[in-house]
Amino acid sequence: MIKPLASELLKSCLIENHIPEGMQLSGKLHTAPEKSDNASPAMKSDLPGEYFHAGEPGTIQPQDWQTLRQKVEEFFAENGPLQDAAKHGGRPYEYRFQQLQMARETIQALIDKRNLAIEAPTGVGKSFAYLVPAILYSKLTNTPALVTTETISLQEQLVNKDLPLLQKLLNIKFKSALAKGRRNYLCLRRLSLAAGEHQSDYIPHPSMEGDIDRIYAWSERTRDGNRDSADFHIQNESWGYVCCEAGNCSFPKCRFQRECFYRKAREEWAKADIIVANHALFFTDLAMQIESGDESGGLLPEYGSVIIDEAHTLEDNAAQHLGLHLTYNGFNAMLNKLYNPDSARGLLMRKGSNALELRSSVTQLKSLAKEFFGQFQEYLLECDDPIRPVTRGGIFTNSLQSPLMDFRCELGDYAMEQTDVDFRSELESLVNQCDMYIDYIHAFINMTLPDSVYWVEEDSRQLILQTAPLNVAEILAQELFTRDFPVIATSATLTVDRRFNYFTNRTGFTRGITRQLSSPFDPEKVTLHVAKNMPDPFDEKYEQALFKALEYYISLSDGKAFVLFTSYSMLRKAADALESFLFHKNIKLLMQGSDMSRSMLLSEFKRDVRSVLFGTDSFWTGVDVPGESLSNVIITKLPFAVPTHPLTQARCDRIKLQGGNPFFDYSLPEAVLKFRQGTGRLIRSRQDSGIIVILDSRINTKRYGKTFINSLPPYPQSGE
Ligand code: SF4
Repeated sequence: MIKPLASELLKSCLIENHIPEGMQLSGKLHTAPEKSDNASPAMKSDLPGEYFHAGEPGTIQPQDWQTLRQKVEEFFAENGPLQDAAKHGGRPYEYRFQQLQMARETIQALIDKRNLAIEAPTGVGKSFAYLVPAILYSKLTNTPALVTTETISLQEQLVNKDLPLLQKLLNIKFKSALAKGRRNYLCLRRLSLAAGEHQSDYIPHPSMEGDIDRIYAWSERTRDGNRDSADFHIQNESWGYVCCEAGNCSFPKCRFQRECFYRKAREEWAKADIIVANHALFFTDLAMQIESGDESGGLLPEYGSVIIDEAHTLEDNAAQHLGLHLTYNGFNAMLNKLYNPDSARGLLMRKGSNALELRSSVTQLKSLAKEFFGQFQEYLLECDDPIRPVTRGGIFTNSLQSPLMDFRCELGDYAMEQTDVDFRSELESLVNQCDMYIDYIHAFINMTLPDSVYWVEEDSRQLILQTAPLNVAEILAQELFTRDFPVIATSATLTVDRRFNYFTNRTGFTRGITRQLSSPFDPEKVTLHVAKNMPDPFDEKYEQALFKALEYYISLSDGKAFVLFTSYSMLRKAADALESFLFHKNIKLLMQGSDMSRSMLLSEFKRDVRSVLFGTDSFWTGVDVPGESLSNVIITKLPFAVPTHPLTQARCDRIKLQGGNPFFDYSLPEAVLKFRQGTGRLIRSRQDSGIIVILDSRINTKRYGKTFINSLPPYPQSGE
């Protein structure tokens, strides 16, 4: 029964203090034209004659597909258009068989409308290998391709480098667009309230006025109203008062609809052949489609194919974005919009028959909310842990729901009385937000979401009530992988021990094929050192042995090393232990957790060639340092996650319940994937070479150690 489940999950998409992207129920901004410029596929297509598609997608002839395959082959062939890349600012051309192979697999999967999971190691040139088939397929079928990525850096690469370059290299014109969630765009109607004569009724602190003035000035010069393009820093809180918000858009009656940035952005998406989005927006859109039961019911235009890059994070991304996320700060911010007792500001300062009572209700709700969320804080204090699962209902008191329901009704009446349309729209949006808080608080307290994991978490900034679906595979199998469009999932790390089982089991990947490409880099350029005499990491002698081994291997490469730890405390100890050794060697130590940011650490690591960088978690993935600076990757310990996170615990419990083995079926493959990501930092270009050092003896002493080694390319091992 996927629909009710999905529907419940969708309800859980409330994110902090705004109505989620996926939750707008009325007044939806349907601004995308009815593909008027797409009405005739033949009109839109500007492919060379042989591609000319004069009918519905079903009328495409076999020879059209054949031509498509041929075009892909020609593009990547040794004397094909790709060899001109350098002339247009791209990388010098290198024929890469693996790239051609990936492009072939991709175009065939698109033509056959089947799914493809393809592992493409660093250096394959995977973005071109999927973009070229996707562009050609999109033009021929007249359906856009959606490319979704995990990281902003990859999105930027696609939008700013790869797609413009392909525009020059391909003999066709195509359109591409970067799609962002609506909260990234400035809403001119809300800005007019924030900067207008009743400003003090709208923004809760006088301190925000300067920010609003700057945003107002920027609104007159910005072309896209996109927060990221602002040339000054905008506080999150101020932006929350002027951004586009689901459930708070008066289109088509809005007087700003002609200039509306979000409307214009969506029109661009609707015209695009390639839409680039991130996983968060992709899953929000998917959730909206599930909820509405309508494939066109999402935020994004209907697409004809999906390419999921960085697909190794698919399960976690789906879990994160299909779950409930509720914060005390968000709830408080919603109340502040209505009335802030400290500054005597807010929407309820306007005249209205029950304004006074409502203001007093807000003050009361604030103290009830403190009490309500306080019980979760106490729950965390009981175990002195910043994160704790909630495994049964009835532990917490729902003291907020009933007063919030009463308040919501009175607020609705107050909104109805208002004659100013913009002001009323703002109030109605807050009434909707109250409704959703009522629903979500009820869902969390009574644990009504089926097959979900619940937990309470406190980070440095706020208290969070969170849920995530336990079985993402079931949802994705039904709602993504069996739809009538092909899905291409790709990453440098999808396999464990050269098999796709783990990926397919965890993500529900189905109705397709899997392919693993070899690395285009020469494995002989890497030497694998597996330290033989290291004690077990749980042995008391391990620490001293580790420090000695680090000195030895850092000397071996004369610095230029990336040392990866699994805990910050060990990183610190190692940094202290090696301080004088590194000083005498005149090697600079860069360390995660110092006062340098991640990007500062990386740029210094690249600049000072002999420097050494000690990093934990986030440095195992997504770090790209080609060249001599990174000649040595040292793995201090195999990266097994401590299963303390409630979602990890619940996944392990589920595996056990189903007769599986949580270690072999979950912890080990997760560790292998992370290990592959970590070791993958070394070789980033054909010119790179170096050593990989493993200082965890379990790789030799435990049977599962082979799984780690077998998952690496066939690097020669040092005989030491
Ligand atoms: S400017 Fe108007 S149409 Fe655009 S998002 Fe705001 S309310 Fe909606």
